[in-house]
Amino acid sequence: MSQEVFDAIVIGAGPSGNAAAYTMAKGGLKVLQLERGEYPGSKNVQGAILYADALEQLMPDFRDDAPLERHVIEQRMWMMDDQSHTGMHYRSEAFNEDRPNRYTIIRAQFDRWFSRRVRDAGCTLLCETTVTELLRNESGRVIGVKTDRHGGTLLADVVVLAEGVNGVTAQRAGLREVVKPKDVALAVKEMHFLPQDVIEQRFGLRGDEGTVIEAMGTITKGMTGTAFLYTNKESISIGIGCLVDDFAKSNQTPYGLLDAFKSHPSVAPLIAGAEVKEYAAHLIPEGGYDAMPQLCGDGWLMVGDAAHLVNSVHREGSNLAMTSGRMAGEIIVRLKRTREPCVAANLALYRKALEDSFVLKDMKKYRKIPHMLDANRQFFDLYPRLLSQAAQTWFRVDGKDKRAKEGEIISAVRKARGVRGVIGDVYRVARAWR
Ligand SMILES: Cc1cc2nc3c(=O)[nH]c(=O)nc-3n(C[C@H](O)[C@H](O)[C@H](O)COP(=O)(O)OP(=O)(O)OC[C@H]3O[C@@H](n4cnc5c(N)ncnc54)[C@H](O)[C@@H]3O)c2cc1C
Repeated sequence: MSQEVFDAIVIGAGPSGNAAAYTMAKGGLKVLQLERGEYPGSKNVQGAILYADALEQLMPDFRDDAPLERHVIEQRMWMMDDQSHTGMHYRSEAFNEDRPNRYTIIRAQFDRWFSRRVRDAGCTLLCETTVTELLRNESGRVIGVKTDRHGGTLLADVVVLAEGVNGVTAQRAGLREVVKPKDVALAVKEMHFLPQDVIEQRFGLRGDEGTVIEAMGTITKGMTGTAFLYTNKESISIGIGCLVDDFAKSNQTPYGLLDAFKSHPSVAPLIAGAEVKEYAAHLIPEGGYDAMPQLCGDGWLMVGDAAHLVNSVHREGSNLAMTSGRMAGEIIVRLKRTREPCVAANLALYRKALEDSFVLKDMKKYRKIPHMLDANRQFFDLYPRLLSQAAQTWFRVDGKDKRAKEGEIISAVRKARGVRGVIGDVYRVARAWR
């Protein structure tokens, strides 16, 4: 008896794999999804902010039953030194809309819900199944996968690699290089539980409103990285991450950084009295456009973190994951409908779709940022200190006249970086940002 051949196999049940599997199952294809975790979400870590637009493109009705925590009405951006933070806050009643734009979520619950929707659409899911290898035919085209299950060889016309940042299957198949320490951040995260009314009082929230804080500065001890604090209904997600390369060169540990962030005077009161229930660590692909592997070939496509699709400047990953998964799925459905083979030349439509969307436009726009930050550590240490010093001088009322204060601020900047240094830094940021 000949072996069953699926239209598509999807490796992984994170946002990218779920988006791909959902699109294809909805499009009438016979789809098999393989997930190494005990259940979808069991292995996944995220801050987490969900960007509604990417999910809405897939499921306009997701708000009816998705496990959403709070809709974000306030964004705080903090530049921190050891004692202070200089912040930009944006809070708007406009975010209290019928279809809010951003939500905080808890990934373990969210991925489970998403996966149920994928299965309802007709996809078959096998959990506790790790793909160990890609199968190829004599011409090199990918025709299926091998798994760690006994006799676990499975065939398909196309394989979607949605296996996340480590991308072990792709590496073994020579489709991707081993991820480089300079291209990935190691992030650690904790969940701090507090009563709902305490969270609402501390952040000035009503009902399901939420606040998110993104922070950078001396908290990463001169390393390239950021920290975050997000409000959920009855918990606060708090975490910090830096490039693996930087950790390797320093004597800092991720949990040491997180402890210091939590005890910072700007952060400690926000989580005071909370019960810590979860601790997790995960990699984030942050190498940007230049770290991206090839996105498709004969019989395969790569989506989400596996393809290094993360916009680290804007802290966006899950939306690029869902969008790339959806686009991969749409191309496969289209090829199946027109009975065209899933060979490299046809699957190249996937790359084209990404090029035309925000996904590769944004990846290209920020292409130079990782290199610029790597070569300019003053943005993580010197400038946060200078900013705080300037604010301290300016806001302290101590009998000094304002012109003298201006002079003090300018002379501190001159001494620390020099006027040319500052002009050069502004120019570098502007160039990398273009
Ligand atoms: C601390 C942290 C905070 C973040 N915060 C945000 C945020 O606030 N907003 C945002 O948009 N993004 C955020 N991100 C990024 C976001 O989590 C990722 O971009 C997103 O999860 C990528 O989805 P994915 O499906 O490609 O990969 P993943 O979510 O990693 O899913 C991959 C899946 O594949 C499975 N798998 C792996 N290998 C195999 C195998 N061989 N066989 C079978 N299954 C396999 C895994 O178990 C996993 O379920 C954050 C990331 C981290 C680490």
